[in-house]
Amino acid sequence: MTGFTREEVIGKTSSLLNIWKNPADRERMVRELAQSGLVENFEAQFVTKSGKIRVGQIFARIIRIHDEDVILSITRDITEYKRTEAARIKSERKYRTLFEHSLDGIGIVTIDGQFLDANPAFCELFGYSREEIRHLNAGQLYVNPADRHALIQSYQNDGYIKNQKVRMRKKDGTQLICQISGTIQVETESQQAIIYSITRDMTAYYRMEDQLRQAQKMESVGRLAGGVAHDYNNALSAIIGFTELAIDSADPEGPLRGNLNEVLHAAKHATEITRQLLAFARKQTIAPKVLDLNDNIENVLKMIRHLIGENIDLSWIPGAGLWPVNIDPTQIDQILANLCVNARDAIEDVGKVTIETGNVTLDETYCANHAGFVPGEFVLMAVSDNGSGMEKEILDNIFEPFFTTKDVDKGTGLGMATVYGIVKQNRGFINVYSEPGIGTSIKIYLPRYKGNDVETQQESVVDTPQSHGETILLVEDDLSVLKLAQQILNGLGYTVLAVSTPGDALDLVKEHTGEIHLLITDVIMPEMNGREMADRLQAVCPGLKCMFMSGYTTNAIVHSGVLDDKVQFLQKPFSKKDLIMAVRKALNESSNLR
Ligand code: ADP
Ligand code: MG
Repeated sequence: MTGFTREEVIGKTSSLLNIWKNPADRERMVRELAQSGLVENFEAQFVTKSGKIRVGQIFARIIRIHDEDVILSITRDITEYKRTEAARIKSERKYRTLFEHSLDGIGIVTIDGQFLDANPAFCELFGYSREEIRHLNAGQLYVNPADRHALIQSYQNDGYIKNQKVRMRKKDGTQLICQISGTIQVETESQQAIIYSITRDMTAYYRMEDQLRQAQKMESVGRLAGGVAHDYNNALSAIIGFTELAIDSADPEGPLRGNLNEVLHAAKHATEITRQLLAFARKQTIAPKVLDLNDNIENVLKMIRHLIGENIDLSWIPGAGLWPVNIDPTQIDQILANLCVNARDAIEDVGKVTIETGNVTLDETYCANHAGFVPGEFVLMAVSDNGSGMEKEILDNIFEPFFTTKDVDKGTGLGMATVYGIVKQNRGFINVYSEPGIGTSIKIYLPRYKGNDVETQQESVVDTPQSHGETILLVEDDLSVLKLAQQILNGLGYTVLAVSTPGDALDLVKEHTGEIHLLITDVIMPEMNGREMADRLQAVCPGLKCMFMSGYTTNAIVHSGVLDDKVQFLQKPFSKKDLIMAVRKALNESSNLR
């Protein structure tokens, strides 16, 4: 141990050999020996012959040999032991720190569910104190206790579990979705199997993931629906327009007129459907107005009564002093019609539907508990029924496009998806509350309009306005729509210059000598969009007034489908009356501007 030979040691004192690193240690030992005749576990550092420092543990006592007191001592070299002990303390401190400060919950539990330890994050996650956790059974943390049994099974089969998604419950009853990973170890001493696990709260993550998946699905179905609906719109424009022209020239008493009216009726119905698809795809061109929801709802109440039938009692409770909202009024009609038809379908025989409005302020607390809501002031429109209500499986799917529980000829599954699309487009929220067997209440929150904008514009209904001989330049790449518009406008006495490409329009304007009063153009055309063409034409003809038409528009002309209210816009498909009114409005407003 010391490196000295026997010969080197015998006859010398330890001091002479310089064995003690701290000579005071020797004095201390001798003092203790003198007092009690004995030392045990006396630790001291000593120096070897080659100068290395070691730690010794000394046991010594005084014994008497030949009437002389001598010290008998046994020294054990505990240098290695001390070194591992220090490492162990360091390691313990390291893992303690991780355990105490981890943001994930860490629990140490027996198979029976008795907690041996839990870190602060674990206690905080479930809302218990460390003391309470000790008296808790781990099974109580699971929404479904069978889930714990399944996990134990995995531990016993594989020795560990990895990222298991489990529904758990806090002390106050709030449900959490957690991810658990852990391992099982058998204690050497007790032979007891112990589970060491890490629990991570993933509630917010899964909620977001759900919303994202939903949004992506909506997006792709929306793109598909929007594309199809756009093509249908052009075809429908032609069908409606030419049918209207044919009706005008058909014998008022003859059978043809009745048939043509049926065609027109069916085509208008088809227009409604494409409009729904476009709304759902959020590609419907909308013209928001600042309006009072109450007025708007009152205007369509008669239609709604008719829609839901006589067996259902309709109750209308308008909120007082309602804040204004900025929304396209036809979208309100669409929302109401869809919600009321659903309410009607949910009522078996007789029942009641209630439409209510009111002002609400959503605060931080409400929003914290309702995913996707943001605080602010909203106008609420609620449609409630005492019909069948919905089970959770149905409730989870109602906004899903094409999800329906109705017969093929009754439901399309697009109603709620459309409502969703409209509400999102207007930066609002939907809340659905439903109790199976009792009823459903659907609440729509639309943001309060706060701009200091102009008064609600009410369009006055007037007789067909005739032309004052103005010249109109018409640009439209769909030939049937071009022909139709030309025919209608000619019939009213306008001079129509009709071309099918922007290039032709630019050429024509350069050569045309007379005045052109109004440009009517499609928005989406192969060579260049209508907006760009209009800008170029206006460079040549300053003061040229413009009117745009489209089945939908892109950002080329509007931002996120919301039309700039300065631009004259005609939604396709249009009826003869729509076109006439829009043209007159465009021409009149232009002259006001000048
Ligand atoms: P559709 O009415 O064509 O089936 P919706 O998108 O309008 O499609 O509705 C989807 C489904 O949601 C319905 O089939 C129905 O099961 C359910 N639903 C919607 N509103 C209600 C309601 N007020 N009461 C009960 N169930 C409803
Ligand atoms: Mg429906």
